[in-house]
Amino acid sequence: MSSQSLPGSDDRAPSAHDARPVLSGARLLLADRDERIASAAAEALRNHGVTHVHTVGSSAAFLEAGRRPPSPVRAWDIAVWDTGLGGGDENLTAFLGAWYAQNPGVPVVVTDDAPSTHRALAALRGRAADMVERGDTAGLVAAVGRARHQTLVPPAATPAPKPVSMLVVGAHPDDVEIGAGGTIHLRAAEGWDITVLTLSHGGGGGDPERRGGEALRAAEVMGARLVMEDLPDGSISDDSSTVRVIERTVEKTRPDVVLVHSASDTHQDHRAVHRATLVACRRVPRLACYQSPSATVSYHPNRFVGLSESDLDAKLAAIRAHGSQAGSRWYLDEDLLRSTARYWGRFSQARYAEPLEVIRDATPLGFFAGDHG
Ligand SMILES: [Zn+2]
Repeated sequence: MSSQSLPGSDDRAPSAHDARPVLSGARLLLADRDERIASAAAEALRNHGVTHVHTVGSSAAFLEAGRRPPSPVRAWDIAVWDTGLGGGDENLTAFLGAWYAQNPGVPVVVTDDAPSTHRALAALRGRAADMVERGDTAGLVAAVGRARHQTLVPPAATPAPKPVSMLVVGAHPDDVEIGAGGTIHLRAAEGWDITVLTLSHGGGGGDPERRGGEALRAAEVMGARLVMEDLPDGSISDDSSTVRVIERTVEKTRPDVVLVHSASDTHQDHRAVHRATLVACRRVPRLACYQSPSATVSYHPNRFVGLSESDLDAKLAAIRAHGSQAGSRWYLDEDLLRSTARYWGRFSQARYAEPLEVIRDATPLGFFAGDHG
């Protein structure tokens, strides 16, 4: 079947046309048992930028030409193999194996008179770059273009960037929401992977089970996952047992950034969690402290995370999720939370902000620097 007679071959023209930039300058070895099909394919490939096409008509000539590329210092860029020259499925796999042993990194596009699942599997096992119907010139040009593109841009060269991992540690349910709820929402929307670690169920301020459920809903609103531990509310220590509890989550989440209570805080649990977190996160490159309602005037923020209206709304919604605390805690008053964020906004480019006291920032250019906005 010749490409000219293929119905719908015009429809495929755009994909073949796209092949031109990647095929420009390529040198290609093409095997086909029929000289007319070989020359039609060669002409189409040249029309799409391939500079050099060498055609052969047997497996021996194919392997021989593979050993002798046009330039002794540069291998073929790509090869096309007609299965009609190579026998059955098992032979195809073995033949491709022989080709790659001799020409590592030179992809082979396989052409077949009537591609079947069996033949395609044999080609796959032999690591063929693609399989197209023999005589489908437009399909061949597109497949050669794709194979060439893959050798030019290997997947390893463009790994998906790993999302930033942030761990936010608090002593009690709602601490993290009050201190960094807007920052968590902002960063989660940017694709950061965020874990909230709450070290107690807050049994001193209500039913631990109910508070656990509230904390879970609040984390969902902010876009974070929640890890809840069960240290004693009111008497959390800063000794090695607390450090180990925090280290468990550090090992699992491998954070790039950690946020925690400040040392300048009147609540003993907050101070203990601050100290234990500094030890547990000694290898984390960036660590900063958020502001709790019990922070003292010695809390000295030096970074300000600018928040949008929706970040602030999410923070307030997360705090509202702690329904068991609303009404009994002066610091949960929405008017106060909103005006506090508005006040810190004067240190940023945004209307609202959350303050951070940076303890460690090991990034050369200052990871938190962008947070002024
Ligand atoms: Zn607290």
